[in-house]
Amino acid sequence: KSFKDLGIVDPLCEACDALGYKAPTPIQAQSIPLALQNRDIIGLAETGSGKTAAFVLPILQALLEEKKPSAFFGLILAPTRELATQIGQSVDALGSSINVRSTVIVGGLDMVPQAIALGKKPHIVCATPGRLLDHLEKTKGFKLSSTRYLVIDEADRLLDMDFGPILEKLLKFLPRERRTFLFSATMSSKVESLQRASLRDPLRVSI
Ligand code: AMP
Repeated sequence: KSFKDLGIVDPLCEACDALGYKAPTPIQAQSIPLALQNRDIIGLAETGSGKTAAFVLPILQALLEEKKPSAFFGLILAPTRELATQIGQSVDALGSSINVRSTVIVGGLDMVPQAIALGKKPHIVCATPGRLLDHLEKTKGFKLSSTRYLVIDEADRLLDMDFGPILEKLLKFLPRERRTFLFSATMSSKVESLQRASLRDPLRVSI
């Protein structure tokens, strides 16, 4: 099967092509059609499986189909600066032909340039939870109330790193009317309780 067979539109298929993605990986083949059907998804997959494109492509496609895409359309949360930055690079590479605006918000960097970047109303924000919460509490005018897609990536690591209470706070800033994709390498009772708090009637895919 090709990305087109999964329901991905031409400009995004071309971006995959340009990146050398000849065919979807198994996690992509399983989750993309469900994500395009507007379902919440729990994906059990490790780094290296191609999980990033599995959640980025459906969000970019929804953005493309939206007549007036709002700022902060998609929020992607990841446990580390490195991972959030890598996801941001994938968003830019896959979204290069569709004029997507994205930014990366991670700890350890000056908050002022980040606040300026948020002021430019990106469509997609890739973030680590702590710094994102800082901005919600301190950066004037920054809200997540228009978020349509939430991704919680590497949920098991996020919870192992004790981001649970921060995730709980972040969820309160997000609208209930949204889609949520949760990816994790492993399932645990903690991941299951996060899943219950954040997803609605999810489908589970695993590779
Ligand atoms: P990830 O698991 O999302 O970190 O992706 C692992 C690596 O696989 C990254 O370097 C991606 O660019 C690459 N990749 C993702 N999807 C595909 C695909 N369909 N075909 C070939 N490489 C891919």
